[in-house]
Amino acid sequence: MTVGPTMPPRFHLECSVSCGAGPFDAGHPHHLCHCGRPLLARYDWARIGAGWSRESLRDAVPSMWRYAPALPLDDGDRAVTLGEGWTPLVPAPALGAELGLERLLVKDEAANPTNSFKARGMSAAVTRAHALGAATLAVPSAGNAACALAAYAANAGIEAQVFMPRDVKTPFIRECRLHGAAVTLVDGLITDAGRIAADQGRRSGWYDVSTLKEPYRVEGKKTMGYEIAEQLGWRWPNWIVYPTGGGTGIVGIWKACEELEALGWVKGPRPRLVTVQAAGCAPMVRAFDAGADTADPWEGAATVADGLRVPAAVGDVLVLRALRGSGGTAVTVSDDDMVRGMHDLGRREGIGAAPEGGATLAALRQLVRDAVIAPDDEVVLLNTGGALKYLDLVEER
Ligand SMILES: *Cc1c(COP(=O)(O)O)cnc(C)c1O
Repeated sequence: MTVGPTMPPRFHLECSVSCGAGPFDAGHPHHLCHCGRPLLARYDWARIGAGWSRESLRDAVPSMWRYAPALPLDDGDRAVTLGEGWTPLVPAPALGAELGLERLLVKDEAANPTNSFKARGMSAAVTRAHALGAATLAVPSAGNAACALAAYAANAGIEAQVFMPRDVKTPFIRECRLHGAAVTLVDGLITDAGRIAADQGRRSGWYDVSTLKEPYRVEGKKTMGYEIAEQLGWRWPNWIVYPTGGGTGIVGIWKACEELEALGWVKGPRPRLVTVQAAGCAPMVRAFDAGADTADPWEGAATVADGLRVPAAVGDVLVLRALRGSGGTAVTVSDDDMVRGMHDLGRREGIGAAPEGGATLAALRQLVRDAVIAPDDEVVLLNTGGALKYLDLVEER
């Protein structure tokens, strides 16, 4: 028996669709709300803002934990960190000139531990799971989330069980094993992996770290939004273009917009958010175009971008809400155009991009061509992961 905290944590959990249940005490493990929708962490911004300023960040650690007061780290907890976040916002002038854009930037998440932005979410989730005393963490993943969980669980001294589709690329499996995770390969997609992980986990008492079923991964991912605002001098770009699978990245950036406004740190219009999906798996784009509030599962999902091969997402309502609330949009790109995007980012800017990162450039080309994005708009592309685990795609061309 561990001795519980003497004070409740300085954050709590609320239903993301305000079904009326809760609030929930963050001092205990929680997953989805009773209504089946995600829970989100809420903070007392007046209190946090009274003791925290933008200026104090000048001396803060160069990782996402520079925003610790806005993260699920309670007094006395240890942050499980490998130096994730505070990634560069790289100007892309050559591609900008080609597209006729004066201000094109790439937020390069390849600089994270295990080579993707999934590190941020897992740093936050494993920190909280560690504080709550979890013994075994389990996650279904298309690849990068498994690698990130494996690394952070290893750092925290907690066992990791990862479940991936059998056809996942070999480097992902090896990287998980490198960090000592137990790897299970399943027939089917990430949704099938999720079912199997949940079944085994229920019987074995594992702590499920599935995206948005677990409420703290999104807290780590929201720091991409905090960083973009800080790196631009506490203002937003006109557009943020994001490759969307489960949607936690979009939901996190939108949450950052709300929170930075609540803190009074960023004024002025919020960025318009663009969801990019693969033509072979585009449930969010289809729902956005149909004006729907939820996304039906995509049949026969197929794309070279593993992170985008997510046929159904528990956070669909939140993604669609963020897209519409921001005045954003949703587009699909072909696998060929994604790989072309990887090559363009690599050749023209020196940026090593995963196909998901290449997808954002392909989407940008469409949006500029269709005059949705204007020449004087400032655009940030999210390169969510690095090229190194996908080099087979480069060789094939
Ligand atoms: C997981 C992943 C995505 C999708 O992110 P979501 O937050 O699930 O929408 C995009 N790119 C890469 C490289 C990923 O690993």
